[in-house]
Amino acid sequence: MQVVYTPAHLAHDITTETFMGLSIPANEVAERAEKIRDALTADGGFAFVEPTDHGEAPITAVHEPGLVRFLEVAWSEVRRQGIARPFLSADTYPNTAMFEGMSEDAIAALVREPVHAGGRAGFWGLDSAAPLVAGTYLAARGAVDVALTAADLVVAGAPAAYGLCRPPGHHAARSMYGGYCFFNNAAIAAEAIVRSTHEHVAILDVDYHHGNGSQQIFWRRGDVRYVSIHADPDSDYPYFLGRADETGEGDGAGENLNIPLSAGTTDEEYLGAVDQALDAIAETSGSVIVVSLGFDTYGLDPIGTFALTTGVYHEIGRRTAALGRRLVILQEGGYHRPSLGENARAWLRGAEGRSFEPRPAGGFGESGAVAG
Ligand SMILES: [Zn+2]
Repeated sequence: MQVVYTPAHLAHDITTETFMGLSIPANEVAERAEKIRDALTADGGFAFVEPTDHGEAPITAVHEPGLVRFLEVAWSEVRRQGIARPFLSADTYPNTAMFEGMSEDAIAALVREPVHAGGRAGFWGLDSAAPLVAGTYLAARGAVDVALTAADLVVAGAPAAYGLCRPPGHHAARSMYGGYCFFNNAAIAAEAIVRSTHEHVAILDVDYHHGNGSQQIFWRRGDVRYVSIHADPDSDYPYFLGRADETGEGDGAGENLNIPLSAGTTDEEYLGAVDQALDAIAETSGSVIVVSLGFDTYGLDPIGTFALTTGVYHEIGRRTAALGRRLVILQEGGYHRPSLGENARAWLRGAEGRSFEPRPAGGFGESGAVAG
């Protein structure tokens, strides 16, 4: 399988994040992608390719141009405005109640994108979990090119390709970044595939979290089915979306399937949800699935509560490929760094129909995944 990777992600060099007001060591760090790259390199069965520059048009096919402009200039604005912070995070988010009583016309006429960089971050951002630094925009653009290059390989006939995207993307909505995500790599890839093939496309999101951004972008679309297995929003981010009764509207009615699961979900329970998700995808026409692949479902993940093991990722990859469609597999979350490489290797080898062959503990890097 070809793996699309670029070192551009290293520029999004994050060390701390904010969780419920507390500054904590960042989870979404550069080491994540490097761990996966190391493991796939050591495997020997993967061919690395560099992404090609796809320009801005595929991004604005999915995202509001104003969001792209903000992300492009945000850090230079932080500096120009003399804001002495190691990263940009919003100070204020526009709770809709701030404008209660104002007509939609009045809001459109009077409420503007703020000038202050912290205010702008609140205007475009969902939360304080996506700190923005000097290299964020270039890294996010690189992740989009990784996704689009993987999509190109599959549209050209490859049975599968893996895009080692970082930063991840599935929380980014049309006009919003957040949740470690800036551009929605999977949505941009899905849209590009729809436009080039004129086929229906399915997104299978197996990150621990609900991909609220992907759901929002395709909510009214009849040509993209979004199917997500994730932690119940009653207990986990993104809290406001991800419930089973969110099924799409208009042309998209019935095209959105959410499968929320409880804390402690086991391999067997998760595989049952995978079968349900794949059945929903099998109902659709089209020959390509975009997979939003997260490993924060792993038992040792620091922010997840599921109990999945490395071996089950091999089986999920195998079952997904057994549907007989071509796969654009894009990296989303996964924060237990010692296991990321083995978990990715297991999933991708499963998707290729290769046996897993776990590495002995300590076989490379600091992989403790086999024992864990
Ligand atoms: Zn996640």
